[in-house]
Amino acid sequence: MRILLLGGTGEARELARLLTGEREHEIVSSLAGRVSEPIRPAGEVRIGGFGGADGLREWLADNRMDLVVDATHPFAEMITANAARATARLGLPMIRLSRPGWAAGPGDRWYRVPDLVAAADTAAGLGDRILLTIGRQGVAAFAGRARPWYLIRAIDPPAGELPPRHEILLARGPFTVAEESELLTRHRIDVVVTKDSGGAATAAKLTAARAAGIPVVVVDRPPVPAGVTVVATVEQVREVLSEWSAEGTGGRAGRKD
Ligand code: NAP
Repeated sequence: MRILLLGGTGEARELARLLTGEREHEIVSSLAGRVSEPIRPAGEVRIGGFGGADGLREWLADNRMDLVVDATHPFAEMITANAARATARLGLPMIRLSRPGWAAGPGDRWYRVPDLVAAADTAAGLGDRILLTIGRQGVAAFAGRARPWYLIRAIDPPAGELPPRHEILLARGPFTVAEESELLTRHRIDVVVTKDSGGAATAAKLTAARAAGIPVVVVDRPPVPAGVTVVATVEQVREVLSEWSAEGTGGRAGRKD
């Protein structure tokens, strides 16, 4: 099967590494091209947007793809919606790999919110020195606020309007709990804001916040479009692919183009 693997995550790289070694699959990984020096997955890679759902549909048809595995970040809402629309139009199956979200444990002081605007409100009510670990996009939701001071941590410089009182820290994780604790102390952080990304790679800040008794504002994930097969692990993607290969699902016979 020819598979478009939408990437930009550790799981997508792991999947690319495993699937490129399998004779029955041909994989093309796709990256958005957001970060200046992306970690390249194994095998064939293309970089850049497709031009919306229609552009993606054309690309899938032109490249004779049999299915799409969307292993983008759980908050990459637009590309997931576009892939769901494009595959539905072509009659191709789609798998959404979305790692499990985080769950609060004893000692955590979490405030769950539906989106970044609500996160900005909630965080401003909890403290004056706020660590934003939401990536480079979405910082604009915090821009209109004069009072809190923000430490904005991202891999590349944040896009769009920024809050007046801020410092930018360019850094790429994963970070250890000791590093995160030191950061919270050094900057006298009293609130952490994060998306519910899940996974171990960016979880150290949660442990550090718990140890310091600092509240964490956690932004809930966007919903996955209907009609998409959702799995939580790389292994489950491989299981579904094996089942579909055995059944003939996802073959070119089912295509509508
Ligand atoms: P998004 O808002 O869902 O997508 C915006 C546009 O970027 C899409 O419409 C598409 O452009 C393009 N795009 C996104 N992912 C792509 C991919 N894998 N290959 C080709 N084009 C892609 O996405 P985002 O939140 O900006 O995330 C962009 C990338 O960063 C994703 O690959 C994601 O896995 C990674 N990432 C995101 C986050 C996060 O918090 N959102 C965190 C870590 C990593 P066209 O419409 O032109 O096709």
